Amino acid sequence: MPILTRKLAAEAPASARVAFFEGRPAGETALAAASPAKAERGLPGATPGIFETCANSGCGSGWLHLLRSRSAPVFEGGWSCSAACTRARVEAAVGRELDGRGSAQESHRHRIPLGLVMLEQGWVTSGQLRQALDAQRVAGAGRLGHWLVRQQGVSEQLVTRALGLQWSCPVLPLEFHDAEALTALVPRLFVDAFGALPLRVAAGKLLYLGFEDRLDPVLALAIERMTGLRVESGLVQGSLFRAAQARVLSARFPRVELIEAGSEPALVHALSRSIERVRPAESRLVRAHDCLWLRMWLRPQSGPLPETAWIQDLICSIGAH
Ligand SMILES: [Zn+2]
Repeated sequence: MPILTRKLAAEAPASARVAFFEGRPAGETALAAASPAKAERGLPGATPGIFETCANSGCGSGWLHLLRSRSAPVFEGGWSCSAACTRARVEAAVGRELDGRGSAQESHRHRIPLGLVMLEQGWVTSGQLRQALDAQRVAGAGRLGHWLVRQQGVSEQLVTRALGLQWSCPVLPLEFHDAEALTALVPRLFVDAFGALPLRVAAGKLLYLGFEDRLDPVLALAIERMTGLRVESGLVQGSLFRAAQARVLSARFPRVELIEAGSEPALVHALSRSIERVRPAESRLVRAHDCLWLRMWLRPQSGPLPETAWIQDLICSIGAH
């Protein structure tokens, strides 16, 4: 069973009971202060104009937003006049996201093996490397870096620096990491299953995303598309990462519903039903690996960070078909 499906199964019952959390007031964090123009960064929050027509291109009703009694839901910047039109737009979006599967998969770009990087830098001897590789082979588990640290007494900082060289990415510091502040950006499931840790938002538009031993460009792109923030990925030293991840996992996250849909039509049905029920001021759909992530903003977002209490996530596993 894929790891995500297992996590979904493990999380679903608990998450279904998650209460609608009270978020901190906007502006409580310094991060929320700076707010460049929304339109410029494509952030949700622009209210539909009163003369806007239904965003479903196949809609024959000719309803103007002004004339129709409903002002929501808004999906991907467009208002829809009826449940049928919401469904048509969601169906197109689901098709778009599933088509992207495969092409957007991680490119298995050749990377210099970690052991070689460390050897080249003179951070391990060939004897240390050989013994660690042997231990890894015998145990049949564990990353090489783990064995170098545990068995050969190599410093964890050096292993992380070598991973940074291997991935051509920065090693990110954890000072001033506020576990509570950024939980509205990434669903708890992604922090848990994909090991992505939101670390800091700089200048209201750049999100630093930390990983333990490998980057995840697919996930970084999904978060970028969803939040409108530019994502800079980097590595965090293992023990610091795990401690910070545990802190983040125990913090409050937006309300989330986890579902597994057996087919594409079932997926479309579940997503559009949810949008019709919640009637969000904005909503978006992106794919992250084997799941589709629908985020609904219950009211327009007023800064670079969404407010925990005013967003609702729906995550659908799509791994099975
Ligand atoms: Zn319509």
